[in-house]
Amino acid sequence: MEFQRRGVMLVIASPSGAGKSSISRSLFGADPNIRLSVSVTTRARRTDEVDGKHYHFIDVPTFERMRRDGELLESAEVHGNFYGTPRAQVEEQLAAGNDILFDIDYQGTLQLYEKARADMVTVFILPPSIKELRARLERRAQDSVGTIEKRLKNARVEMEHFAEYDYVLVNEDLENSVGRVRSILASARLKRERQVNLPSFVKDLQSQIDSL
Ligand code: 5GP
Repeated sequence: MEFQRRGVMLVIASPSGAGKSSISRSLFGADPNIRLSVSVTTRARRTDEVDGKHYHFIDVPTFERMRRDGELLESAEVHGNFYGTPRAQVEEQLAAGNDILFDIDYQGTLQLYEKARADMVTVFILPPSIKELRARLERRAQDSVGTIEKRLKNARVEMEHFAEYDYVLVNEDLENSVGRVRSILASARLKRERQVNLPSFVKDLQSQIDSL
């Protein structure tokens, strides 16, 4: 039996190369109840990115206006560019009972904790080893050797934030990791507070007893 429920805000974070994108893609592809939160950014669009799908690409004045007008649920500067989560889409999807997957950094996650902790579940992904992390970054082959070294240094800093997340998993095997994130999401969906019409369901059961 399924109750009407309020959606979950699922934040997945990891140092680059630890597998966040593959896990998110797999999760998203297999579950029609998951929506992606499409952020706004002032960063230049990469050639393989589609405006409105990967990000809404906007200029700095537009970003500043949105932030000033309270249109962003959270925002942060990452590597010299601005990023933010538009508020409207999140509220709509949660109310419709859809879960939302966020690809945001720890600064954004901390801001969301302040505003929406009860709706959030956060997962941090670690690589099994640095040897494996480097191998994954090299396999991607989009990055020059210098960039890989820089990403490894960044990974060190990003890892410091593991304690800010509800769940931490070591991504040794993609399928296994996806399964674990699914279990985390499944538990979050079953939380009492998420099941909107639970009180009326219980009342109904009780009145059935009363009328026996
Ligand atoms: P990229 O430019 O490589 O797509 O993303 C760089 C970093 O910005 C990633 O760590 C990503 O999680 C983070 N990011 C993307 N969108 C947002 C957002 O809306 N808010 C915050 N706080 N971080 C974001």
